[in-house]
Amino acid sequence: MADIEQLARDARAELEAATTVAELDAAKVRHLGKSGPLVLLLGDIRNLPPEDRGHVGKEGNVARRQLEEYVAARGAELADAELDAQVARDVVDMTLPARAVPQGTLHLLTQTRRLLEDIFLGMGYAVIDAPEVESEWYGFSALNTPVGHPARNPTDTFYIEGHDANAGANDDALILRTQTSTAQLRTMQLTKPPLYVVHPGRVYRRDDIDATHSDMFHQMEALAVDEGLTLAHLKGTMEQFLGTLFGGKLEIRLRTHFFPFTEPSVEADVQCFNCMGSGRAPEGDAQGEGASDKCRVCRGEGWIEIMGAGMVDPNVFEAVGYDADRVSGFAFGIGIDRVAMLRHDFPDLRHLFQNDLRFVRQFPGRP
Ligand SMILES: [Zn+2]
Repeated sequence: MADIEQLARDARAELEAATTVAELDAAKVRHLGKSGPLVLLLGDIRNLPPEDRGHVGKEGNVARRQLEEYVAARGAELADAELDAQVARDVVDMTLPARAVPQGTLHLLTQTRRLLEDIFLGMGYAVIDAPEVESEWYGFSALNTPVGHPARNPTDTFYIEGHDANAGANDDALILRTQTSTAQLRTMQLTKPPLYVVHPGRVYRRDDIDATHSDMFHQMEALAVDEGLTLAHLKGTMEQFLGTLFGGKLEIRLRTHFFPFTEPSVEADVQCFNCMGSGRAPEGDAQGEGASDKCRVCRGEGWIEIMGAGMVDPNVFEAVGYDADRVSGFAFGIGIDRVAMLRHDFPDLRHLFQNDLRFVRQFPGRP
């Protein structure tokens, strides 16, 4: 017969040797679990000689109870110690530098759009929004671009629905707008003059993509309608806008042009902000090896083609129910992408849409 005292001593020694809750649990399973020697002995008590059963049962149960009490007390001690150690390890050291969290920035196009908006807000204009999907009526007809006009060539336009190549133009067909001038119509339909608004937004054309063309790009449209507005107001507004945009007092040059929705229409050039119109590379201007002494921004021209503009055609006023005898107005459109390229001196429009972080991160505009 196994010696109860010896079994209890062995068990106690192993339990006391445990230094963690896990070790104590393992020792407990070995000695007080179903296969523990003391437990087996107590379970087998009926097979002992009758004269031994009483004292083995009594001593065995006392030993087991003592061991269990020890396990409970020691287990609590070890658990407390482990918790203390854990808390000590996890303490937050407030003096450590914070972990850097990557922070997004505004895309260069967003920065440029906001800059343009700010300049016009400063001149008392409101910023408006308008749909990118438009009917052909808004896209062309109401902008004095009748069926058969070359600008209405279906190969230049993305159609959403309702376009039938055989049936020809259909004012209800839906297109992706090809210019932001559609916003003029929407605004005039909703608002009575006087009106001073700008509308920045995306436009779409079926262009082949290269360094200066994209099938999606960004324009900003400005529209002013009031009594007595003339081309002089248009030019003065351009001077104020472009001078603020590029910095300095820059000359504006107007060249006659044609747009269906303005009459007269002009192309506006701004004096080159890099060479101040001289056409020669400024002193200290970064030039590649073998470069000429021509200004790299205007390529020696002294002028930069910057926008199309004109006085709103009376037919456009008629389309939206304005009295062309009472009010006049001017409108101009400028490429937001092009402004970004000019101001930051990069030659390829595609950088703006490829989302290459090496490019994007060079312009860390904060939200
Ligand atoms: Zn220049």
